[in-house]
Amino acid sequence: MRDSEIKHLRPGSTRTLLDGSGRPYRWTITSLAFKGEHDPSGTPATWIIGAPAARAVTVLERLQPPSTDLLFRCLTHRHRLKPGAMTLRSSNELINHVITWINAYCHRHGINDIIPDVNGSPWNLTTRQFRRTLAWYIARRPGGVIAGAIQYRHLGIQMFEGYAGTSDSGFRAEVEAEQAIKRGEHLLALATDHQHDLSGPAAAEATARLADFHQRTGFAGSVITDIRRLHRVFARHDPEVYPGTYVTCVFNLDKALCRPHGASHEERPRPAPLDCQPLECRNVALTPGNAAARAAEADRLHEQLGARPNLPPALHASLARRRDAIRRFLTTTGGAT
Ligand code: SF4
Repeated sequence: MRDSEIKHLRPGSTRTLLDGSGRPYRWTITSLAFKGEHDPSGTPATWIIGAPAARAVTVLERLQPPSTDLLFRCLTHRHRLKPGAMTLRSSNELINHVITWINAYCHRHGINDIIPDVNGSPWNLTTRQFRRTLAWYIARRPGGVIAGAIQYRHLGIQMFEGYAGTSDSGFRAEVEAEQAIKRGEHLLALATDHQHDLSGPAAAEATARLADFHQRTGFAGSVITDIRRLHRVFARHDPEVYPGTYVTCVFNLDKALCRPHGASHEERPRPAPLDCQPLECRNVALTPGNAAARAAEADRLHEQLGARPNLPPALHASLARRRDAIRRFLTTTGGAT
């Protein structure tokens, strides 16, 4: 969202979608969109957001009096700023006040984490720089420290839904059909070529399910031409094996760490990939490709840990923990090469 779109948020603009067991799995926010829209007063639009953004809006709602119409009105105790909708200038002013506050706090407490000057002067931060910084990282370092390893890793799915999910073009159904074909072909290829190469806690279960799937589909080789037949097989005898880049999920609800509350009303519970805990879950099987992708991730983290300038200490420690956990996992599951 752009600055202007955020500034038009009103109370009650977020919505939380719940799965069959009452667990939140998706959050949306509604405001006015300006870019590319013909109406200069904006057009109502809905975006998919992450849980932290939804929580931030809830906090903002509590900060404003109940009668407020816009969430980004200036806080009433800031008499210096004019009442009314917050302007770009006042946002930037507040952000720079935060920098001053942080630096004064660090100075008072002898902490090193100040926001440094640039060329001898305080950096003048603007909201536009946040968007550009994020775009820079996503475009140039999709598997890198920020975009890959921390919170942005799942937003690809959410962003896809943000764009495709509101479309009337039928594009979403097409994508889902393609995904079913891809999954079917992947499963057949696994059953044909790799069922004896699997490792990890759910390897034996995966092998049994894949053999059964192969027998039921009756597809020769691994090319699927009859999507209806595939849908029928999935509807009656879905092996519930979900191939992924880093792990193959052999779904069993009782052991699924991504579904700690189980399923209350769902006809067919599914894994929750956004909450996957691949290094701990007992539903994980590894193909040789999965193991190689995981090992490459550990190597990438290792490289990033040695990068200069040094990463912030908390980020460094978090990435080091992740690298070590991946390597331990590969050694214990037999996936290490
Ligand atoms: S935590 Fe991951 S591997 Fe385990 S069931 Fe969920 S999606 Fe599958």
